[in-house]
Amino acid sequence: MSSEEAGGEERMVRDLNDQDKSLVDAIDQHPLSGTNYFSCIQCGRCVGACPATRVSPAFNIREINRRVRDGDESVLDDPSIWDCFYCQACVNTCPKNNIDGYKTIIILRDLALNKNAGLHHMKRVLPVIATFMEKGVLTDEKSWLDPACIDELHQLNEQTGFKERFESLKNKCDGEEAP
Ligand code: SF4
Ligand code: SF4
Repeated sequence: MSSEEAGGEERMVRDLNDQDKSLVDAIDQHPLSGTNYFSCIQCGRCVGACPATRVSPAFNIREINRRVRDGDESVLDDPSIWDCFYCQACVNTCPKNNIDGYKTIIILRDLALNKNAGLHHMKRVLPVIATFMEKGVLTDEKSWLDPACIDELHQLNEQTGFKERFESLKNKCDGEEAP
């Protein structure tokens, strides 16, 4: 989303100064970018539909959208960004068609990990990811996949950079103390 696309009338709160823009700019450069945070009308329908909020009241995707829009980088250190489980209910209920709450969370987690925030959250899921990368299944049971499919999976892990990213995160997490 460029500032031009955001549109003056949708830039609801205030113009961002250069420092404030760094978070929005970082999100814009992510491969999953595409959300226009300035079109959010803060109606809260996303929160009403969000099952994660029901079990973790501190998690509020409307508030996270607002903080991103305001350039509040402290959102990257907020443990609540690890409460979303990507169900997309927020996207389906949003009256705007260009706000993807779950993608926002993926991007925020990526940016948080880049600055070594939230590593203990990541550490808990690394074994599941490792099993999937190796066997194409999420448990330690014997894979039911054809060996050719598993070979293809291994190639994809390499070619997409997924394996490299995983190993980088694993190295970071291995040096992380439990909170
Ligand atoms: S439902 Fe959409 S417009 Fe309403 S607060 Fe959530 S993200 Fe913003
Ligand atoms: S994708 Fe995340 S933020 Fe959106 S409704 Fe589901 S749990 Fe809530």
